[in-house]
Amino acid sequence: MDRATTLKKLADDPVVDVLVIGAGINGIGTFRDLGLQGARTLLVDQGDFCSGCSSASSHMAHGGIRYLENGEFRLVSEAVNERNRLILNAPHLVKPLPTIVPMFKIFSGLLNAPFKFLDLLDRPSERGALVIKVGLMFYDALTRGQRVVPRHRFEGRKKSLERWPDLDPTLKFTALYYDGQLVSPERLCVELALDATGSSERAMALTYAPVIGVEVDGESNEAVVMIRDEMGGTILKVRPRVIVNAGGPWIDSVNGALGSPTAYIGGTKGSHIVVDNPALRKAMGEHEFFFENKDGRIVLMLAWYDRVVIGTSDIPVKDAEGSMCTDEEIEYFIGLAGRLFPTIPVTRQQIVFTFSGVRPLPRSGAKNAGQISRDHSIEETRVGAVPVLSLVSGKWTTFRAFAGQVTDKALARLGMGRRVSTEGLPIGGGADWPATPAAMEEAELALVKKHGIPFDRAQALFALYGSRAGLVLAAVAPGSPEAMLASLPSYSRQEVAFLAREEGAEHLDDLILRRSTIAWRGLATASVLEELCDIMAIAKGWSPSLRDAELVRTTAILRERHGGVVRA
Ligand SMILES: Cc1cc2nc3c(=O)[nH]c(=O)nc-3n(C[C@H](O)[C@H](O)[C@H](O)COP(=O)(O)OP(=O)(O)OC[C@H]3O[C@@H](n4cnc5c(N)ncnc54)[C@H](O)[C@@H]3O)c2cc1C
Repeated sequence: MDRATTLKKLADDPVVDVLVIGAGINGIGTFRDLGLQGARTLLVDQGDFCSGCSSASSHMAHGGIRYLENGEFRLVSEAVNERNRLILNAPHLVKPLPTIVPMFKIFSGLLNAPFKFLDLLDRPSERGALVIKVGLMFYDALTRGQRVVPRHRFEGRKKSLERWPDLDPTLKFTALYYDGQLVSPERLCVELALDATGSSERAMALTYAPVIGVEVDGESNEAVVMIRDEMGGTILKVRPRVIVNAGGPWIDSVNGALGSPTAYIGGTKGSHIVVDNPALRKAMGEHEFFFENKDGRIVLMLAWYDRVVIGTSDIPVKDAEGSMCTDEEIEYFIGLAGRLFPTIPVTRQQIVFTFSGVRPLPRSGAKNAGQISRDHSIEETRVGAVPVLSLVSGKWTTFRAFAGQVTDKALARLGMGRRVSTEGLPIGGGADWPATPAAMEEAELALVKKHGIPFDRAQALFALYGSRAGLVLAAVAPGSPEAMLASLPSYSRQEVAFLAREEGAEHLDDLILRRSTIAWRGLATASVLEELCDIMAIAKGWSPSLRDAELVRTTAILRERHGGVVRA
């Protein structure tokens, strides 16, 4: 993924089969699929990979059990199947997630479901145990026979409180069912993009490269799309045969820049907080709690690393720009945690990170945000003679299926055929995944033997990078040990340099937000940032003034968009 090589290739030949605008999960998924089919494809983003809505998700690869009450059976069926594929294709980054639904009523909601299908009810109200039981049975039935995750279980109050003594004692039942956890959505995006550029010389990607305008050639009616290379300060002119607008919540502004304005999106903002609260983390085990808050909204608390993620909100907004978690949302999240675990206080001081993004939902007349469809669609317009396929909505979980549909449409416009399916294709470090615990231990011992690292370090690297762990360690000079960071000993200098050099990181914030979970877990202290910045400066050849500017930039991003959390 060498930027200079990509720019040279485009200068030599500016014609691409497909220009994909937007490197969120839907754009990257489409880019990978098109690359595999042999199409000359350029992916561009105004920021880094996965820096828009795709980095604001609740980290769930899920069927969306909640959508059953909106009657979205097609979406739920597609999503549970895609969830299972993700767990199989990217096992290092997508894990089965035991999810607990605490219930406080038995009957409520039973009559609401049909009313919601008929669009006669505009306020959410508490779902009772019976309606949840029916939903979970249906959910299990959708993937019967696949056995990727276990079936659901119901427990009464007594057993639930024995198992979860800190839960609100007024509960009536708990259900346990399984979905998937996206351990690091950002790394998943990066590894998918690397798979694409690694599989074909015709697949090219540029981050920090916004589309800023278009010229239509009067004679040929061809579109010449203008892209600003923010790293080099030049303007690139590209001649695509098909354009894929994967701008997520920015789709309408991208179409505006392409000279054909649209009004597809009616986004809603969703935020989360990450808290460092060992008592709460312990009380939750390795589970997610997915439940209905007092106002009828479905909310979640997710055990993630040694932290707890709490979210989310669903607030209609006009603009995708500058989305951030507000004081009001923080109060709401603290309140919902207190409702479920009343004896374990959550305070503002425990918040180590906040994140927020805008769902690219279709413009809709729904009476509340929860009722807007989460299903995806492809809208087609033209710029001159060039078809523009806009990817409206779509969940993280269903990206592969959505990308497949877009790719097929684009290939049809190009007169090309599909060569490969992505259905069973491993993602990044999910390739050659050991099938049994014994095979896993063998793979980890092979790392120990080859690179002379301790066994627990091999385990940690394999857990994080899967089969790419060997590539990370290849950056360590033979015979010399890994040099662990003084400020963050779970990372090594060679590992950081590898992420900076080989995984397309352009800025320090790319490293701490999207090549690793350092900032997300509240580990980006001032001394960690200094040490990482020094390593990046060497890896990227930054001058001392550029190095200082990177520190200022990253600190400002953490302060302005992620709750200002740089802990001493
Ligand atoms: C709070 C929240 C929670 C969610 N939770 C889940 C969940 O748990 N599970 C799930 O399956 N889904 C979830 N989703 C939905 C999912 O995250 C989104 O549907 C998905 O990420 C959308 O991806 P995208 O690629 O379409 O958009 P984005 O990720 O926003 O990508 C669009 C990209 O376009 C780029 N762009 C914009 N303008 C330009 C331009 N002019 N030039 C170049 N690039 C440009 C942006 O920088 C951006 O990177 C959640 C969403 C939110 C907001």
